[in-house]
Amino acid sequence: MKRLEGVLYPGLDKSIVDLKIVDDVSEENGKPAITLSMQNDEAYAILAERLADLFNGEVIVKRKTLAQKKDINYGHTANPNNRAPYAKRVIAVTSGKGGVGKSTVSVNLSVALAQKGFKVGLLDADVYGPNIPRMLGTADEKLRWNDNDKIIPSENFGIKIMSVGLTTPTPDTPLVWRSSVAVSALIQFLEDVDWGELDFLVIDMPPGTGDIQLTMAQELPITAGVIVTTPQPVALDDVSRAIVMFKDIKVPIGGLVENMSFFIAPDTGKRYDIFGKGGGEATAKKYGIPFLGKIPLDMQIREHSDAGTPPVAMGDKRQKGYYKNVADNLLKQIL
Ligand code: ADP
Repeated sequence: MKRLEGVLYPGLDKSIVDLKIVDDVSEENGKPAITLSMQNDEAYAILAERLADLFNGEVIVKRKTLAQKKDINYGHTANPNNRAPYAKRVIAVTSGKGGVGKSTVSVNLSVALAQKGFKVGLLDADVYGPNIPRMLGTADEKLRWNDNDKIIPSENFGIKIMSVGLTTPTPDTPLVWRSSVAVSALIQFLEDVDWGELDFLVIDMPPGTGDIQLTMAQELPITAGVIVTTPQPVALDDVSRAIVMFKDIKVPIGGLVENMSFFIAPDTGKRYDIFGKGGGEATAKKYGIPFLGKIPLDMQIREHSDAGTPPVAMGDKRQKGYYKNVADNLLKQIL
C-alpha cells in the first residue's frame, strides 16, 4: 500500500490510494496481487502498466468493475433489480427532447414534495445537460466522501442532491461517456451516495429513448415516470416515442406535464399560445395517461432557475401554485 501511494491516477494529481480504487492487496505465487476497483478501460490499461513498471513486472494486477458487484439485469424490466432499497418510491422524469424544461420540473417537483414533509433525494442523471446544481444553487460544490466511503450529497431547499455534473473538474468539461460508462456511473450514484432513507428518489433522466433509460428501468423499480413536453407538434412527436418506450418496458407512467404552455405578457396581460394550444392534454388522452398540469412560459421561472432559487420555493404565489399542482396530481396517482 505504501508504494501504491505514489501511483497517480491517469490525468489526475491524486494517487490511486487517495481515490480509494485499490480494492485489495494480497499475495499470489509469491507476487503482490493488486485489485483495482474502476470502470474506465483506458485508465485501467495505463495503471496496469504503471504497476508493472513499479514492481519490475513481478506483480499481478486485477480489476473489479461495478457490474461485477451485482450482475446488470439485461432481462425484463417488469422484474427489475433494486439498486435503491433506501427509497420508498422512485420517480423518473424524462422528455422526448432536450430544452423542454425537464430539469426545471424535476427540481420544482422535488422541492414541492419536500415542502409536503417527504424526504426527497434528487439524482441528476442527465449526462447531456447536468443543470440541476445550478438550478438549486449547489454548483460550486465538489464531490465529498464520508468516513464510510459514501459520497455525501449536497443539500438545499430541503432535498438531497447529487449530479453527474459534479464528476467533472470544471462546469464546462463535457461528459464524453459511452452509454455503458454512464450507466456504471449512475449505478454508483444509486449505490454509493449516502442518501439515507428517502420517501422519494426523483431522477432527472437524459432526454430521449436510449440505453440509459432502458438500463435504469432494469436496475430500479420505478414507481412512476413523469413525462415533460412543450405543446408544439415537433415536441409531441418526440414525447410520443418516450411514452411508447415507457409502456413497452413496463414503467408505470405517472403522467404528462405540459411546460411553456402559454405566455401572459407582463405589460398588457394578454395571453399568447406561443407553441400552440392543448397539445399536451391531447397527447395524454391519446396514450391514456394522466395529465398532471400546465406551466406557462414565464420569465421569472427562467430567472429563478438560473439564480438557483427554485420558483416553487422562492417565486410568487402563481409560480409556486403551478408546481404544487403538478406534485398534488402526481401524488394522487401514486399514493
Ligand atoms: P431540459 O431539462 O428539458 O433540457 P431545462 O429544465 O434545462 O430543460 O430548461 C431549459 C431552459 O428553459 C432553462 O433555461 C430553464 O430555466 C427554462 N425554462 C424551463 N421551464 C420554463 C418556463 N416554464 N418558463 C420559462 N423558462 C423556462
